[in-house]
Amino acid sequence: MQIAAKEAKDVSGHSDITVAIEGTWQKHGLTSLNGVVIATSFYTGKMLGASILSIFCKCPNKMHNENCKANHFGNSGRKEVSGAIEIFQRSESLQGRRYTKFLSNGDARAYKAVNEMHPYEDTGIEKLECVGYVKKRMGTRLRALKLKMKWNKLSDKKKNIG
Ligand SMILES: [Zn+2]
Repeated sequence: MQIAAKEAKDVSGHSDITVAIEGTWQKHGLTSLNGVVIATSFYTGKMLGASILSIFCKCPNKMHNENCKANHFGNSGRKEVSGAIEIFQRSESLQGRRYTKFLSNGDARAYKAVNEMHPYEDTGIEKLECVGYVKKRMGTRLRALKLKMKWNKLSDKKKNIG
């Protein structure tokens, strides 16, 4: 993830990067006990951060002890919020990156919670949500890459002939 953070900076040209936040759970619905929230770089598609959340607890009478594996005690439906908060809180201290653009198709509460937390002091976080916009940008980049690869192949051939 540290390498991915470095790459994201190299590609974007600065330390403020755009991330996509996605949560996935072991089971559908609100009964799932385990889940993970991940942040991937918009520029490279690689994972930058993750938060593993569990509400699995066998403590007697829910009096949590030191052996308790649970790390999320709220409503299961708020796991994406908790995960996103954890990821944003440590991005700057762990990687020196600020995730200033937040892309998500999921729960709008996660963005709201992260933005209200002000993880980067006076620098706000912008929400990106238009899937069409992403597809367009991705498409443009992919087409440019394809063209570049084609061009490299052609120039390699020319070199071989020469
Ligand atoms: Zn417990």
